[in-house]
Amino acid sequence: LAKAQGKNRLVVYADGMAEAARRRAGLAQDLAVAADAGQLEVHYQPTVRLTDGRTTGFEALVRWNHPGGGLVPPGEFIPLAEETGAITGIARWVLREALRQGAVWLAETGTPLRMAVNLSPRQFQDGDVTADVVAALEESGFPAELLTLEVTEGVLVRDVDSVVAHLEALRTLGIRIAIDDFGTGFSGLSYLRHLPADIIKIDRSFVMDLPRGRSATTLITSIVELARTLGLDVVAEGVETEGQRQALADLHCAQAQGYLFARPAPAARAGASLPGRPARVPAQPGAPAVERL
Ligand code: C2E
Ligand code: MG
Ligand code: MG
Ligand code: MG
Repeated sequence: LAKAQGKNRLVVYADGMAEAARRRAGLAQDLAVAADAGQLEVHYQPTVRLTDGRTTGFEALVRWNHPGGGLVPPGEFIPLAEETGAITGIARWVLREALRQGAVWLAETGTPLRMAVNLSPRQFQDGDVTADVVAALEESGFPAELLTLEVTEGVLVRDVDSVVAHLEALRTLGIRIAIDDFGTGFSGLSYLRHLPADIIKIDRSFVMDLPRGRSATTLITSIVELARTLGLDVVAEGVETEGQRQALADLHCAQAQGYLFARPAPAARAGASLPGRPARVPAQPGAPAVERL
């Protein structure tokens, strides 16, 4: 009996795998045309200064409006797009769209708001990421000095020299480089020696344990001190509570991002509270927030 049950379980498991593989293959196919089919949209989440709560800029976060499946969060399709190479087209589209929007906000508010765009490792292997960025800057008229490109230490997995060369070239243009999800990688702090960077983004997993977590507090204190020594800016990710905000302010973290301030939202809503903007666009009750999925 036990053997029979075991066998059944195996069959169920194999079916699940086949189903998952089919779903992936389907998604991969759909993903290849998503950008051209107009199914991508960019949501924007503000970065705020902790001393006075003012918005310093936005991070562009892509979403996929899948015809059959609602709004797909990037965690579910960016890794796949990386594997298939679809990321190159998606990334180009996100860059152009985010810089176009950044230029609109800049013109409307007269305030030098920053725009941060995520780059994935594959973009440093295929094509010419620097040329893509330059093209998007020229097309939009968005100033290079207000652009931040976010990378994780995953970019260092392959050809380090070529990645560093790209990052150096981008910085020469006045663009700032942020190390995303800082503290979660395997190589510890040593890669800071290799990666040309201007900003450290403290990963949400540390912020989550504030205000009471001892090791999180110690780690964030060290990161802030390290950043100060190296002349880097610090942004804390994923701030959800007032206690976390206060703890980060007490630890002299200058900027933060998180649901406490605002969830990522479409441009019309994200930009509604900017200075020099007219009325607030009310949240649409029917619109699903991707984070709630
Ligand atoms: P990330 O760059 O670290 O972005 C931060 C993620 O944390 C976003 O998830 C954001 O919605 C979420 N977040 C922000 N504040 C909070 C909070 O207070 N609590 C919680 N629980 N989450 C918060 P999202 O938009 O799902 O993006 C996930 C990841 O997908 C991003 O992580 C980034 O690595 C990647 N990604 C997003 N857009 C792009 C893109 O255009 N290109 C590339 N290459 N990657 C992207
Ligand atoms: Mg990011
Ligand atoms: Mg991050
Ligand atoms: Mg993160």
